[in-house]
Amino acid sequence: MGLFGGRKTVFVDADILVIGGGMAGCGATYESRYWGRDLKVVCVEKANIERSGAVAQGLYAINCYMGMQWGENQPEDHVRYARNDLMGLVREDLGYDIARHVDSTVHKFEEWGLPIMRDPKTGRYQREGKWQIMIHGESYKPIVAEAARKAATEVYNRIMVTHLLMDTRQKNRVGGAVGFNVRTGDFYVFRAKAVIVSAGGASHIFKPRAVGEGMGRTWYAPWSSASAYALPIQVGAKMTQMENRIVLTRFKDGYGPVGAYFLHLKTYTQNGYGEEYEKRWYEDTKALVGDYIDRHPVPTCLRNHAILREVAAGRGPIRMVTKEAFQDPHKETVGWENFLGMTIGQAVVWASQNIDPKHINPELTTSEPYVMGSHATCSGAWASGPEDYAPSEYQWGYNRMMTVDGLFGAGDTIGGTAHKFSSGSFTEGRIAGKAAVKYVMEKGRDQPEVSEKEVRDLQKTIYQPLENYRVGRNEITAGTVSPSYLLPIHGLQRLEKIMDEYVGGISTNYMTNGVLLQRGLELLAMMKEDMSSMGAEDLHQLMRTWELHHRLLASESVTQHTLFREETRWPGYYYRGDHMKLDDENWHCFTLSRYDRNTGQWAMEKAPVYHIID
Ligand SMILES: Cc1cc2nc3c(=O)[nH]c(=O)nc-3n(C[C@H](O)[C@H](O)[C@H](O)COP(=O)(O)OP(=O)(O)OC[C@H]3O[C@@H](n4cnc5c(N)ncnc54)[C@H](O)[C@@H]3O)c2cc1C
Repeated sequence: MGLFGGRKTVFVDADILVIGGGMAGCGATYESRYWGRDLKVVCVEKANIERSGAVAQGLYAINCYMGMQWGENQPEDHVRYARNDLMGLVREDLGYDIARHVDSTVHKFEEWGLPIMRDPKTGRYQREGKWQIMIHGESYKPIVAEAARKAATEVYNRIMVTHLLMDTRQKNRVGGAVGFNVRTGDFYVFRAKAVIVSAGGASHIFKPRAVGEGMGRTWYAPWSSASAYALPIQVGAKMTQMENRIVLTRFKDGYGPVGAYFLHLKTYTQNGYGEEYEKRWYEDTKALVGDYIDRHPVPTCLRNHAILREVAAGRGPIRMVTKEAFQDPHKETVGWENFLGMTIGQAVVWASQNIDPKHINPELTTSEPYVMGSHATCSGAWASGPEDYAPSEYQWGYNRMMTVDGLFGAGDTIGGTAHKFSSGSFTEGRIAGKAAVKYVMEKGRDQPEVSEKEVRDLQKTIYQPLENYRVGRNEITAGTVSPSYLLPIHGLQRLEKIMDEYVGGISTNYMTNGVLLQRGLELLAMMKEDMSSMGAEDLHQLMRTWELHHRLLASESVTQHTLFREETRWPGYYYRGDHMKLDDENWHCFTLSRYDRNTGQWAMEKAPVYHIID
């Protein structure tokens, strides 16, 4: 069978194309239909929206809820909180925009059938912490997906989008996307008037702690493969804060979340000798970041920093003290349910390692870094802000539109807005959907056109790894190593090793410097050269190949940004050994990049941080 033999090409025309049907994509699809009653709204998803994205397994808490109906918090409070946690650098306009709408999203979830726990005394939602509410969330994603399914004109599951298409007549305007069905191999061409990218964050950029048989065990979903960044980067959208990778303190080996333990069960941590250790590192941290250590709550990265220092001083492991709380049968139940509803793997790891948290205080560890825009970091695309709230410098068009015309984003895709989590991502999807509808309506008959030649060229490029394999496999006499092609798993491990050793991964204790970063960029460039020799045995491996392409481009972006920011803004996430201190005088700003796919060059610049809220 030749390169295209037996495979159909399917053309789909849409008014609005949503790429990625996770939390943000479902929100975007739902809201696009609300405002665009007669529009053709299409959602395309690599997996199946029923159980896709980071919420696939379910969640036990919704981490972003103001509780305005009960006067619990106001949107301004949430902006202050996120700003504090990110060491001063967030897009306050975007954060405020999400916070003012997020409660209505959560109320919709409840209407659609999501069981939210209630405090029996007050009747309010049961709080886990100041911003978190507790849910019975095993079916969270199917519930949200149902709303999107009903709203969409069509949902195309099992299609991996590999490239965006640009308008041939208007420079810098998006015109659609292409991809392939990971089950049938059919080639899909989506032509759309507006595109919303909501394809999640990125795991497996850096080498994970669990390798070999356990390499799928990562904190962030292993299928989150950086498409959210690579797709916009390829077409020249500006990115922001890509250096702001996240490192999580989690239960060892299973990555079980610690939020419910700290906040609800009131457990606490101690070093390997049963001592409190955070206070010991106060002066050390203060010397690096100044007054930021005195903020309340202590920024997430600084708490990581204390753990890293304590372990480096030889007093590990850090443990979560569960033995006390778990004597209360109610708390014990909550502790286990917390995992069974969203991270079953942690319960299995404990069972397999003879850890009963009632009798043994389980170990914590710091994860490998991930790239994402919705948790306690804010990497992603640089987006236009809300018309009524954003400073003029942050506004060049429609809300959540990137620097490419007609290209919108939400959730992990959009930078500068940490702490949106599942509910905030869905909310941001809604905001982007509404703005995209406005864009389509106002453009009227002015529609983009895509080039037939570009589509055909991309088709050839996308399937080429299958051909490389078909031809090259004849040279193998045994095993999987071929002189003519590189398999996706080999490429992934090469990428992870480069990022780990040069860009501040676990093996260097998150340390890097200008010299290492420059060398990292050289090695990434060499890897890029080899990417035309990728070989894919089947459609699954073809998907892995394109995931690797996306991860590689996002990694380059992370490295460029890390090199550009000459300070250590977030100790505990990573360290620039040549600039160990936080430097507010020179770096109280956003970092922006723009990639030119014709030259392969990156243009870096600073953008101001406007503090809108006191
Ligand atoms: C381990 C973990 C625990 C968390 N715990 C909580 C919690 O307790 N409470 C809370 O509120 N939030 C929590 N979050 C955060 C929450 O899950 C995310 O904020 C949210 O899912 C981000 O939404 P998103 O739409 O950007 O990404 P996702 O929900 O991950 O969706 C991305 C979608 O894009 C699809 N996709 C990717 N690439 C492509 C492509 N090339 N083509 C087509 N489709 C593609 C994916 O399959 C996926 O469906 C947690 C996240 C993680 C990882």
